[in-house]
Amino acid sequence: MSEKRCLLYIEDDPGARTLVSKALARYFEVLTAPNGLEGLDLLAERLPDIVMTDLDLPDLAGEIIATRVRAIAGESIPVVAVTTTAEKSVKDRALAAGCIGVIQKPIDAHTLVDRLTAFLNGHTEELSEQERRRITREMQADLTRQLEAMVRKLQEDNAELRNLERAKTAFLTQVSHELRTPLTVLSGYVQMLRQQLYSDAYGDPGLRNLADLSLNSLKRLNQVMNEVVVMARLAANQIEAFIAPIQIGLVVREAIAEYRDALEKRHLSIEEAGDSWNLVVMIDSSLLHMAMDNLLSNAIKYTPDGGRIGVLIEREADILHIAIRDTGIGISPDNLRLLFKPFYTSIDVNRGRTSKTDFMGMGMGIGLTIVTKIVEAHGGRLWAESPGYDEERCPGSTFHILLPGASLSEQAARQATRLP
Ligand code: ADP
Repeated sequence: MSEKRCLLYIEDDPGARTLVSKALARYFEVLTAPNGLEGLDLLAERLPDIVMTDLDLPDLAGEIIATRVRAIAGESIPVVAVTTTAEKSVKDRALAAGCIGVIQKPIDAHTLVDRLTAFLNGHTEELSEQERRRITREMQADLTRQLEAMVRKLQEDNAELRNLERAKTAFLTQVSHELRTPLTVLSGYVQMLRQQLYSDAYGDPGLRNLADLSLNSLKRLNQVMNEVVVMARLAANQIEAFIAPIQIGLVVREAIAEYRDALEKRHLSIEEAGDSWNLVVMIDSSLLHMAMDNLLSNAIKYTPDGGRIGVLIEREADILHIAIRDTGIGISPDNLRLLFKPFYTSIDVNRGRTSKTDFMGMGMGIGLTIVTKIVEAHGGRLWAESPGYDEERCPGSTFHILLPGASLSEQAARQATRLP
C-alpha cells in the first residue's frame, strides 16, 4: 500500500474540521489548525502535500495564507480555498492569490477525495491573465489599507498598555507608601512594648515571646514592602544607580552577615572563593547589596539543611565576575528560561510558606527580576546554570554576574570610603 499523502486543513469551524478529518482519514494524513497563524506554524514544522484553507479565518485571510505557502514552498504545495460564498469575485480573488481551486461549503464529503486527488494530479481552475493582474492590484490596495489599520490599532493598544503599566506602577508605589507609614508606627510601638517587657525583671516570658514574634513578622512585612517599591521603581526605570568606588568584598560580606543566624540554624556553610574580594569597583553599593541579598536568600531557600554555598569574586581582565553556587535542588532546563520573568516562582503559592531562609520558603517571584534590573543598571550580565532539578540528588545551581569595566586598582582599595 502506498503511503498516505499529508493534507493540512486550516479552518476555524470545528464542525468542518471534524467532517474533513473523518471523510479523508482513509486516504490522507490530515493535520488541522484552527487559525492561520497556527496553520503556518504547522506548515513550517512539516511540509504537507496539499493545503486546504478557509478564506474567512479569524486572523489571516485565506489569500494571505496562499501567498505565504507560495513564498515558503513555491508551486510544490498546491493550496485549495474553502468558502461559504458562491460569488465569482471571491473565487477569483482566491485564484489570483495563488490558490489552484476553490471548494464550496458545505463540503460534499463524497466527492472531496476525488477533487483533492485531481488537484494533486495537476488540475487547476483557470483565471485569465488580465483578470489575475486586475485582482492582484485590488488585493494589494486592500492589503495596504488593512496593514495601515492594523499598525494604527497596534499603536493605540501599545499606548494603552504603557498607560496601564504606568498606572500599575503608580498604584503599587502609592499603596506601599500608604502601608509603610502605619507599619513604621506599629513597628515602633511593638519595639517599645518589647523593650518594656525585657526591662521588667518579672516580665512574662510568654508575652516576651509574643513581642519577639510580632517584631519578626513586622520586619518581614517591611522587607516585602521594600521589595514591592523597589520592583515598581525598577520596572518604571525610576531608580538611578549612584555609582561610586567601593571594595566589593565589603558589600558582599555585609549581605552575607545578615544571614548569619539563618545559615547557622539551617547548618549551611558558606565559603569564599576567588582572589578579588579586596578589589575596588565602581558600583551602586546599596543596589548591589540588594542583588546579593536576593541571590543569597535563594541559595539558602533552595538548599536543604547541611548544604554548602560558595561565593566567588574574581577579576577577569576588565570584568568583575561574581558567582553564587549552592548544593541545592537545582533548576530544570525549562525553568532556567523562566526564572528571570517577573512574578515567576516555582513554589505553589497556595502551599508555600513565605520565608527568605526556610527550605523551599515562598517568595513573590520578583527577586531575580530585581537582580536582573540591578545588573542591567550596571551594564552587566546575569545568568544561571544548573545540571537539572532533583530534590534527592541536589545537583545545585550557580548564578553568575558579570560587571564590565568595574575595576579600579587594588591600591585604591585602601583609600576607598564606604558610602551610606
Ligand atoms: P522567589 O524565590 O520569590 O520564588 P525569585 O525571582 O527569587 O523568586 O526566583 C524565581 C524562581 O527561581 C524560584 O521560584 C525558584 O524556582 C528558582 N530559583 C532561584 N534561585 C534558585 C536556586 N538557587 N536554586 C534553585 N532554584 C532557584
